[in-house]
Amino acid sequence: MTTTETTIFEALESNVRGYCRAWPTVFDTASGARLRDIDGKEYLDFFAGAGALNYGHNNPVLKEALLEYIARDGITHGLDMSTVAKRDLLHAVQDLILAPRGLDYKVQFPGPTGANAVEAALKLARKVTGRTDIIHFTNAFHGMTLGALSVTGNAAKRAGAGVPLVHATPMPYDGYFDTGDTDMAWIERVLDDTSSGIDTPAAVIVESVQGEGGVNLARPEWLRHLAQLCSARGILLIVDDVQMGCGRTGPFFSFESAGIVPDIVTLSKSIGGYGLPMALVLMKPELDQWAPGEHNGTFRGNNPAFVTARTALEHYWADNMLELSTLRKGALVREALLRIDAEVDGISTRGRGLVHGIAFDDASLAGKVCQWAFENGLLLETSGPCDEVVKLLPPLTITDAELIEGLDILTAAVTAVGTGE
Ligand code: PMP
Repeated sequence: MTTTETTIFEALESNVRGYCRAWPTVFDTASGARLRDIDGKEYLDFFAGAGALNYGHNNPVLKEALLEYIARDGITHGLDMSTVAKRDLLHAVQDLILAPRGLDYKVQFPGPTGANAVEAALKLARKVTGRTDIIHFTNAFHGMTLGALSVTGNAAKRAGAGVPLVHATPMPYDGYFDTGDTDMAWIERVLDDTSSGIDTPAAVIVESVQGEGGVNLARPEWLRHLAQLCSARGILLIVDDVQMGCGRTGPFFSFESAGIVPDIVTLSKSIGGYGLPMALVLMKPELDQWAPGEHNGTFRGNNPAFVTARTALEHYWADNMLELSTLRKGALVREALLRIDAEVDGISTRGRGLVHGIAFDDASLAGKVCQWAFENGLLLETSGPCDEVVKLLPPLTITDAELIEGLDILTAAVTAVGTGE
C-alpha cells in the first residue's frame, strides 16, 4: 500500500473516524460476504455493514434491478412524491410483509437513517399521547441525534450531546439483574405507584436484541409482559428493529417470535437491501396523526433504495426460505460458539438467528480477538458497554462454507488471544 493512499485519511478526515482505525487498510471492492482491499487481500465479512448488508455486498439480484432502474432514468431523488418505485415498494411491503403476518400498519418514510426513524417515532408517540417522557432500557442504542441519544444508554455517546438529555427514563433490560422477572416487576411497580416519581410515559422503546449494547437478548415472555404492561396503561410500544429487523434473527421482524404487535416499528439498515440509505416507520393506523408535512426530510425519497428494497422483499421474503436458512446457519454458529465456550475460560456466548456474541470477562480481549481476526482476513466488531463482546453479524446470504471458514478464523483468534500466542 503506498503512503499517499493511507495518509489522506489521517490528514484530512476528522478524528471522529472509527472503523478505519480498527481495520487499517483501504477497501476497494466487495461481493457477497467478501471484501477486497487495494492490495488484493480478501476479508470475510462477519460485520455486514453493522446490519445494513443482510443480503451481502453488491447482491447480484439487487444490483441488476438497480442498474436497470438507473439505465432507464428512473427517478433518483423524489422527496415524498408518488413514484413508480415507491408505489411498487409499498405494494411489496403490504403484500409480502404486512398482510402475511396479519399486521395493519401505515408506512412513513422518514429521512434515510435509523436515527431519523427513531426521532420520527418518538415525536409521533409524544404527539399522539400528549405526554413527554419515554421509557428506554439499560444498554439500549437508538442513534446519535438528540432524541435518539436521550434513549441510548452508553455514557460516552450520551456525553457527546453537549446538552442535558431529558424526558427519558432508563429501566432494566431483560437479564440486567440476572434475576428473571423481577426486572419487569420494577417497571410495573414504578408505573403504577403515583409516588414513584415516574410519570406515565408516552412510549416505551425497546430492541428485541440489543446489538450495540452487547448482543443482549430479551426473552419472548419478557417482551410479551412488556407489551401487555404497555397496552394496559395506554403506553405506546415502539420496537426499534433498525438492526435486528429484515431477518437478522430469523423472521422478518425480530418481535415475531414473541407474538407481540408493537404500536410503532422503526426499520432502516437492511430495509434498503443494497446498503443504500433508507428507513421506514410503521405505525398502527389510528396513530397516524401527522399533519401533512409535519415531519419531513430532503432525503426521505431515495428511490434507487426503494427499488432494491422492493427487489429484496420479492426475492427473499415471498416465502420462508431465508428465515429457515438463517435459523439453520444460526445453529451452525451456535455449535461453533459452544465448542469455543467449552475450551476457553473467561467467556460466555449468546445469540439468536444470525446475531451472536462472545462476551469476555476481561474486556480488553474482545478487541484483541477482532484485531487478530482482521489480520487473518475476518471482519468482526466489538459491542457492549466496555467493548467486551465480539459481535458476529454475517450477511444472511453467506454460504455455509464461508460461515465455517469465518468460524474457524474466529476460533483460532479466541484461542490465540486467550493463550497469549
Ligand atoms: N437503532 C438501532 C437499534 C441501531 O442499531 C442503530 C445503529 N446501530 C440505530 C438505531 C441508528 O441507526 P443510524 O446509524 O442509521 O442512525
